[in-house]
Amino acid sequence: MKVLKFGGTSVQFHDNMKQVKNIISDMQNEQLLIVLSACRGTTDNLLKLAEASANNHSDLMQSLFNEIKNHHLELITNLKLDNEFNVNVINDVNSILNQIENMCEGIRLLKELTIRTRATLVANGELLSTAILSNYLKSCGINNVLLDAREIMKLYYSNADSLVNFEKTSENIKKAFTQNLYSGFNIQIIQGFIGSDPMNNTAVLSRGGSDYSAAVFGAELQAEEIQIWTDVSGIFSTDPRFFSNAKTIERMTFSEVKELSAFGAKVLHPDTVKPAIVANIPVRVLNTHSPQENGTLLTNNIEESISQIDAITMLKSLNIFSITIPSERERKSEVIRKISECMNQTSGNYFLISQGISEIKIITDNISRLSSTFSKNYLTSNLSDVAVLCLVGKNLTYSSNSKLLNNISNIIFKYNIEMLEIINNNAIYIAMNTLENSNSLYEELHNFIINSI
Ligand code: ADP
Ligand code: ASP
Ligand code: MG
Repeated sequence: MKVLKFGGTSVQFHDNMKQVKNIISDMQNEQLLIVLSACRGTTDNLLKLAEASANNHSDLMQSLFNEIKNHHLELITNLKLDNEFNVNVINDVNSILNQIENMCEGIRLLKELTIRTRATLVANGELLSTAILSNYLKSCGINNVLLDAREIMKLYYSNADSLVNFEKTSENIKKAFTQNLYSGFNIQIIQGFIGSDPMNNTAVLSRGGSDYSAAVFGAELQAEEIQIWTDVSGIFSTDPRFFSNAKTIERMTFSEVKELSAFGAKVLHPDTVKPAIVANIPVRVLNTHSPQENGTLLTNNIEESISQIDAITMLKSLNIFSITIPSERERKSEVIRKISECMNQTSGNYFLISQGISEIKIITDNISRLSSTFSKNYLTSNLSDVAVLCLVGKNLTYSSNSKLLNNISNIIFKYNIEMLEIINNNAIYIAMNTLENSNSLYEELHNFIINSI
C-alpha cells in the first residue's frame, strides 16, 4: 500500500482538487491511504478567528468566518458534484461551519482560549477539506471511505508540544485500515495534522504537521512508499521562490532533508523523516500540478562514492548569544546544565550550540530565557540580526571532496563571517551578520551548487 499526502495548495481551488482526483484515479487499483491538509489559508484563518473571538472583535470574527465559509462553498460549487453527493457534502460542510460558529461564540462569551479549544477549532480545516474530497471522489465514481483522525492519531502534551503516542496510534491505524480493506475499500482518506489527546479532546500537531501524520501512518502500516504531493516538483537546491534557477534534487538522504527542514526549508515538516527512517520507507516529494515529473526520492541509503553539495537554505533574524566559560570545572558544567534547562523551558528554537575553550555560542531565535539566566552572573554578549546559511550534501567531509570544500571556502571567506561549523558529513553552517551581504553570499553559494550538480 501507499500513503499519499496532499498539502494545502493541492486542495485549495477546484482545479487543484481535480488534479488530486486524477492522481488518485490513476492509482485506484492500489491500496491507498490519502492524508489531507486543510485548504491553503484555512488554518491561518481559523487561528486568527480564534484570537478575534477571544478578543471580542465581532467584525473581524464575521469577516474571517465568511471567508472560510465562502471559500469552501465556492469550492464545492465549482467541483459540480452529482446531486446525491452534492447534498451530502453541503450537509457535512454546513454542520462543520455551524460548529465553528458556535465554538467562536463560546470563546467570545467566555473570553477564554485554551490550547484545547484552539486545537478543536483549528482542526476544522482538515475536517472540511477531507469531507469535500471524499464526496467529490465518490461523485467521480471513485469509491472511498473517510476515516476520522481524532479516533486514530493519539497525541499527548509535553509542555505546550503535542507528541504522538506511537503504540496507540499504530494499533488504531492498523485496525481501521484492515477492517476497511475487508469491507472492500481500497481508498481511505484521513485528515493530517489532527488527532486527540488521552481524554479524547481534539489535539493538533505543530504547523505543517500533515507531512508528519503521513509519515507516522506510513511507518505504522509498513507502506511501500510515502508520497508527499505539494506545489513544487520535489526538493530544490533552494526555495524556488527565492531563486528561479533552483534545480530539483533527484535523490536525497533523510539526514540531508532533516537539516534542510530544520533550517527553514518549509517543503517538509522537520519531524517527517523520523518515522520513515525507522521503518526504512522511501519518501517521494512530488508536484500535484505536474504529476509526470519524478520529483525527489528520499532514502536512507546512499553510495559512499557520491559526494556533493545539494542544497542551501537561509534563516534570518537570529541571535548569537555568547557566554564566557568560567575556568572552574563545576561552573563549566553548570553553564551546560543551565543551557539545557533554557532549551526545555523556552518556546524558541536553538539551532546551533558551539563550545570552544573560552566561550559557548548559541544560535537561537529567542534569547529571553538565556539572558535572564546568564546575564547577571556570567559574562555574556549578544549579536542580533544574524543570518545562518546551511549547506547540505552527501559525504561532505570525505577526502574526495576536498576540492569542493576548497572552492566553497574560497567563496565563503570573501565575506566577513561570524561562525563556520561542520558538525557532520551532511551540513555546513555559516553564520554572519545580516548586514554583511548575507543575501549575496546565499546567491553566490547557490549558483556554485547548481553549476556543480
Ligand atoms: P504544502 O501545502 O504542500 O504542505 P508547503 O507550502 O508546506 O506545501 O511546502 C512547499 C513550499 O516549500 C514550496 O512552495 C516552496 O516555496 C517551499 N520550499 C522551501 N524550501 C524549498 C526547497 N528547498 N525545495 C522545495 N520547496 C521549498
Ligand atoms: N493545515 C495545517 C497547517 O497549515 C497542517 C498542514 O498543512 O500540514 O499548518
Ligand atoms: Mg507543508
